[in-house]
Amino acid sequence: MTSVITGGHVLTVDARRNEYTGGYVAVDGTQIIEVGPGPVPERFAGAERVDARGCLVTPGLVNTHHHLYQWATRGRAVDSGLFDWLTQLYPVWGMLDERIVGAAATAALAWLARTGATTTMDHHYLFPRGGGDVLGATVAAAAEVGLRFQPTRGSMDVGRSQGGLPPDNVVEDTAAVLSDTQAAIERFHDPSFGSMLRIGVAPCSPFSCSRDLLTESAALARDRGVRLHTHLAETSDEDEYCLERFGCKPVAYLDSLGWLGPDVWLAHAVHLDDDAIGTLAAHGTGVAHCPWSNARLGAGICRTRALLDAGVPVGLGVDGAASNETSSLIGEVSAATHFARAVGGPSAMSVREAVELGTLGGARLLGREAEIGSLEAGKLADIALWRLDGPPHLGIADPVAALVLGPPPPLELLLVGGRAVVERDRVVTVDEARAEQAARDVSASLP
Ligand SMILES: [Zn+2]
Repeated sequence: MTSVITGGHVLTVDARRNEYTGGYVAVDGTQIIEVGPGPVPERFAGAERVDARGCLVTPGLVNTHHHLYQWATRGRAVDSGLFDWLTQLYPVWGMLDERIVGAAATAALAWLARTGATTTMDHHYLFPRGGGDVLGATVAAAAEVGLRFQPTRGSMDVGRSQGGLPPDNVVEDTAAVLSDTQAAIERFHDPSFGSMLRIGVAPCSPFSCSRDLLTESAALARDRGVRLHTHLAETSDEDEYCLERFGCKPVAYLDSLGWLGPDVWLAHAVHLDDDAIGTLAAHGTGVAHCPWSNARLGAGICRTRALLDAGVPVGLGVDGAASNETSSLIGEVSAATHFARAVGGPSAMSVREAVELGTLGGARLLGREAEIGSLEAGKLADIALWRLDGPPHLGIADPVAALVLGPPPPLELLLVGGRAVVERDRVVTVDEARAEQAARDVSASLP
């Protein structure tokens, strides 16, 4: 079944960065088969038409850092920095189970879709004893909502009694983590082209994971050919923790463990000096920039301009909903632009570059740039149609500027592999009202 999206402004993010006013995107099944300037070629005369007049057509956004479970614990420790915020939230997170995680993940994924995400990762590192199959609950939620999913089996093994930050009851035994991570890869990982589900490995952070867990996790990920992720250099507290315990800063610590490589992406990377940026660039290690979460926790502003100039791959992430109650991926595109300019001047991030970070940049971090991140023949039909002809964007001639600098627009249509997930700004794959009620109920059930 062929359909043609026609009449919109098409921002391809292809190798030549082509844009077509009144262009078209032809989709056959799960893939894009042709993109070009209008009018639609005669050979598509019999295809179904999707009217995109008044819309900007972009690749679907790629979310490179998230904790879906946190949708159940939004709006807590609202005036705290990272370590204090974590200390207040860990005991609540210790009560999670598969029912809570499933309801939170469904609500979080539905909202992500509403904000333009067609692919998302999830960093899940909490496996409370007796909590059931929490990773399976996120996988089921993503299948239901219909987003392309890259969950990571996260972990923590250094509790407070060992000098870590989390309380002992939310950390796991190192050997158990590794065997369960291997089992998760075997159970879920689909490496095929167009896969809806790839697994990654993601020990949580240097202040909650042992040297053994970090080293063995990297070895496991590389042995199984899956990607590797962690939080790094988020706050100055973490710099101090690493200097005190390991005698070096976070990037140097990971480098000393043989951790860094082109198969790795790091969340935040706010506190980097020039040497650390050079180290990441030399290894081809990417950064998931989460500007809104960093601002919410007062962590600082990532040096995106310096990272990009050094050749470090950069994508965008909303981070968990407990440190970013907006949880809007298009909001992160906007924040990345504004924050870069606030510290680096007006040329520090163009509106088009910000969309690239949210699309192709994210695809690179997840190792999927051959499949997603741009509108090109042969890529997957992950496409967003942003409606820009309403009052909030009135008079903004450049549709890309309207998307990035204006308020988040309604989504006319969001396709994942050619399947509609959002239509006229409503999620159509799940009953939104029921998902919202379930999320409300699990939030209320926690102390
Ligand atoms: Zn995070």
